[in-house]
Amino acid sequence: MRLNGKVAIITGAGAGIGKAAAILFAAEGATVHAWDLKMEALQAVAAEGKGKIVPHVVDVTNRPQIKETVEKILGTDKKIDILVNNAGITADGLLIKMDEAAWDRVINVNLKGVFNCCQAVMRAMIDNGGGSIINTSSVVGVYGNPGQVNYSATKAGVIGMTKTLCKEMGKKKIRVNAVAPGFISTDMTAKVPEKVLTMMLEKTPLQRLGSPEDIARAYLFLASDESSFVSGQVLGVDGGLSL
Ligand code: NAP
Repeated sequence: MRLNGKVAIITGAGAGIGKAAAILFAAEGATVHAWDLKMEALQAVAAEGKGKIVPHVVDVTNRPQIKETVEKILGTDKKIDILVNNAGITADGLLIKMDEAAWDRVINVNLKGVFNCCQAVMRAMIDNGGGSIINTSSVVGVYGNPGQVNYSATKAGVIGMTKTLCKEMGKKKIRVNAVAPGFISTDMTAKVPEKVLTMMLEKTPLQRLGSPEDIARAYLFLASDESSFVSGQVLGVDGGLSL
């Protein structure tokens, strides 16, 4: 029970990696506030998990909704120990063909959403004497990927935010780290053409796609006291793809 007594928020917890993390964190003793766009998806996660998973419809681009939900959580649980900024979307295309709406949409969710959620919990974490924030980057935020100029910009931006917040918040005992997944088997990669996935697998020393649980376990390490002297890091969880 590595998260006994901890209160965690996980965004994008209705599917994929966020769902696996909500189930794992609850099994490890945390009270998990699972945020996503659809209540039915969140209720299914809460029903599947063992332990306490509380569903909230929260869009990470909606600042009033975030503020209201954080206040509600503080009203019941009095503190927030962990924030996992996991929600993310793609709207792929080559720069030359990308419309402005696809750029704005991805920036708003993947980058501004992280800013919105970090800002909303920071005061509570300071008042509680510390916390752990985990931001979800990607291997493509480090190395780039053709057709993902918007997405890779957000995932690189998340790394900059992680390092800056580590430096800003360290004295308040708030640790901030990022996880950079490789190719993980979720709805997001279901959209990737078969031949691209085959190419990625050929470049991955471990010769498989990651599972949502592979990433959830990395989140768990960074959320727990086992990583108490780890901050400002980008943990690649990619089967060796980034080598
Ligand atoms: P996923 O299966 O598509 O799940 C993402 C969840 O986030 C969905 O439930 C989605 O809801 C929700 N969401 C979307 N927009 C949101 C918003 N504005 N506010 C709150 N929730 C929102 O994706 P995933 O593969 O688990 O990805 C999780 C994170 O890992 C993302 O940040 C992604 O960029 C990152 N990542 C994934 C991979 C990969 O290979 N899968 C690799 C590197 C990084 P809807 O379904 O209703 O839209």
